[in-house]
Amino acid sequence: MQLDDSTDLHVTSPTALLDAPAAEPQKLIPRPPGRGPGEAIAWQRIVPMLVLQATSLLVLVVGWSPVAVIVCFALYLVRMFGITAFYHRYFSHRTFRVGRVMQFLGAVLGASATQRGPLWWAAHHRKHHRFSDTDQDAHSPHAHGFWWSHIGWIASPRHYGTDLAQVPDLARYPELRWLDRHDLVVPLLLLASMFGLGWALESWAPSLGTNALQMAVWGFSVSTTLLFHGTAAINSLTHLVGKRVWPTRDKSKNSFLLALLTLGEGWHNNHHWCPGTARMGFRWWEIDISYYGLRLLALFGLVHELRPIPARSTAPSRRLRG
Ligand SMILES: [Zn+2]
Ligand SMILES: [Zn+2]
Repeated sequence: MQLDDSTDLHVTSPTALLDAPAAEPQKLIPRPPGRGPGEAIAWQRIVPMLVLQATSLLVLVVGWSPVAVIVCFALYLVRMFGITAFYHRYFSHRTFRVGRVMQFLGAVLGASATQRGPLWWAAHHRKHHRFSDTDQDAHSPHAHGFWWSHIGWIASPRHYGTDLAQVPDLARYPELRWLDRHDLVVPLLLLASMFGLGWALESWAPSLGTNALQMAVWGFSVSTTLLFHGTAAINSLTHLVGKRVWPTRDKSKNSFLLALLTLGEGWHNNHHWCPGTARMGFRWWEIDISYYGLRLLALFGLVHELRPIPARSTAPSRRLRG
């Protein structure tokens, strides 16, 4: 666990805690140490997700077309950027600044990934940094095993609610609280738009060989399933597989392959070393596509003040390996 840069994650100003709305009920279920034997499963949470992922198998029925596959991967990339740049680097760690409209648009983009709302996501992630790889870490593969860290923890009733005490700086915005409470609205709109796109292409460009159901399966089911496992791999695999470069107190690791698949998140040991920077690839060859995307948005004035990597991330004496 590395708190040097994360101590200021949780508030935007010294008064943020005081400014946070007090009316919102606390829904977090107290978490006893460890996973506990016979833990109940929140079926209402896990069944829809498993059904969604199972519908990916419909590719065997609907077939494929180049345009459907392109839409699938385009939506993977765009929504992964929503998760890494906004849900993670902005909402969880506040590593750059945005205006209120852009903040909402970033939240909508993140919500389209179907990984619940921005407050839920950020609250869990802030606790991950605080308790990394201890028994209190909801998704540590070392404390609870691989499958629990990858997907099982989501099915626990203890992790269903949003712990607003973790995110007072975000909970002060009613539009974010609305999006968090109605976290299925954006995914359902995306699903509907995939049906609409497929129907439109079938009607007006039949030579493309797609239709409403095929586009929904590829553009939503397959893309969202890949997106889920890509993101979940950061919780599970990047604490198991890869190289340790920095002496963090957790077991986070760097993985080039996972960094490519997750637009930079695979530099997870770097991230645990310096969670307060917008950048996860510290060296030129540590490819960090989300950071490049944020630099591009900064060029257009859509995001501001990307927090740079601190001096200790370039000090060779602090590295475990060269
Ligand atoms: Zn981690
Ligand atoms: Zn983080």
